[in-house]
Amino acid sequence: MSDPSSDYAKPLPELDGHTEDFYTFCGLGELRFQRCDDCGAWRHVPRELCPECGSWSWQWARSSGRGSVFTWTVVTRALHPAFAESVPYAPTVIELEEGVRLLSEVVDCTPDALEIGMPVEVVFERATPEVALPKFRRVSA
Ligand SMILES: [Zn+2]
Repeated sequence: MSDPSSDYAKPLPELDGHTEDFYTFCGLGELRFQRCDDCGAWRHVPRELCPECGSWSWQWARSSGRGSVFTWTVVTRALHPAFAESVPYAPTVIELEEGVRLLSEVVDCTPDALEIGMPVEVVFERATPEVALPKFRRVSA
């Protein structure tokens, strides 16, 4: 096996329904979120009904992939053995330009260097042949 990602040991998202669709786009290098056909509101996590106007009509719309750090927490004690070598790490909420928020991680930044509002852009981390995870890296303002 020459696939360097085949030893990815952390938990993976369960691929079904809209979650599978979301990660299929990530695998293509596209960050997409649901966008309401009637009022234009973006939403995440995936759901059938628009929380703004109640419409059932929506599509997967491509995000710019740009956003900023909204908040984070620092994990210093792994609650799952697969994360033991990653501590300390910072699960980080990214607010995309479109207004949706995504729980992810800034990959080129130690937790003590994170700042509220820090501009970031999406990068995709290939975990398995089926799953690419949307992560973020810093960009200059
Ligand atoms: Zn709507």
